[in-house]
Amino acid sequence: MTKKIAILPGDGIGPEIVNETIKVLDALRSGFGLNVETEQGLIGGAAYDATGTPFPEATLKLAQDADAILLGAVGGPKWEPLDYALRPERGLLGLRAGLELFANLRPALLYPQLLDASTLKADVVSNLDLMIIRELTGGIYFGKPRGRRINDSNEREGYNTLVYSESEISRIAHIGFQIARKRQKRLCSIDKANVLECTELWREVVIEVGKEYPDVALSHMYVDNAAMQLVRNPKQFDVMLTDNLFGDILSDCAAMLTGSIGMLPSASLDKNGKGMYEPIHGSAPDIAGRNVANPIATVLSLAMLLRYSFDDDATATHIEQAIQAALDAGCRTADIYSEGTRKVSTTEMGDAIVSALLARKS
Ligand code: NAD
Repeated sequence: MTKKIAILPGDGIGPEIVNETIKVLDALRSGFGLNVETEQGLIGGAAYDATGTPFPEATLKLAQDADAILLGAVGGPKWEPLDYALRPERGLLGLRAGLELFANLRPALLYPQLLDASTLKADVVSNLDLMIIRELTGGIYFGKPRGRRINDSNEREGYNTLVYSESEISRIAHIGFQIARKRQKRLCSIDKANVLECTELWREVVIEVGKEYPDVALSHMYVDNAAMQLVRNPKQFDVMLTDNLFGDILSDCAAMLTGSIGMLPSASLDKNGKGMYEPIHGSAPDIAGRNVANPIATVLSLAMLLRYSFDDDATATHIEQAIQAALDAGCRTADIYSEGTRKVSTTEMGDAIVSALLARKS
């Protein structure tokens, strides 16, 4: 049956990097028999300019009707003066909430060709391949009560609430164990169970869910130690499972282990495995429109889409190996350029990936 991908290019470099990904998709359709159809929609600043809202009804409908969503990036200085409700980022939050995308998957993978791009020593990060799974729709970012007030001592006071229900923890834990099963079968759950009751429950529920996955080795780590271990010896981890706040911080830390923000994809999944796939970086207004952005994070997001939403490991692997081949051939966009390699534009990188892909066919 034909699957449908909703494509939302967004703002800044979004349309440029998405165009290269569409070229890869077209090559997969014509050369590898991939049976998908696509439809484009508006989101973020581009949607605001065209319709007066960053998240039009039509975009929600398109995303709901599709089997998966591929997004570029949203935002930019042009829309910063707008009210919060009209800012491009509201489009993203609207999609996450509207589709109940509660599981955020962020792989951190270091390509051997880019070993020098990391700020860490080569032996610490060589062959790094870890996955952070972050709960995305609960925890302290959403807990109530929240706000600011004047307290009894007549001081200003700010407060937020860290709250997770058993079912919220259990559904993200299941995703964690299932992903670990597809990898090296090791799951490390990150919490602060020594001081926060909410994460004590987190640990308890993760242990209960773990009984259903006896083939996955489960361990636990406090978040402060996890941050330290990520920069000391990141290769000890396979899958890290954590809540919204800790995951926000740890996943950015893990991303930087790999050196370039332009190389890392992400997925946000609902309970049925339907997902939205996007690079971890933003709309990079500083380089937008100059054909210099790195499209690899977005092309890798397509690979994740095929693997996690369409269960098509073989085609995802073709994409990943075509990217390796383009890097092996010396192609580098400006962000990953180093002496002795060939600096290429966004479109040239896309072309190199497509030819490497088609070469795999013959
Ligand atoms: P950013 O990720 O857009 O850029 C940070 C730096 O990385 C910039 O120097 C940029 O040029 C560079 N960079 C990013 N992606 C690159 C790529 N593919 N190739 C080469 N270089 C790349 O973060 P920012 O500057 O903090 O934010 C810019 C805008 O993006 C803001 O409006 C922000 O709100 C938005 N944003 C959107 C998302 C999203 O759509 N998911 C995520 C983060 C930020």
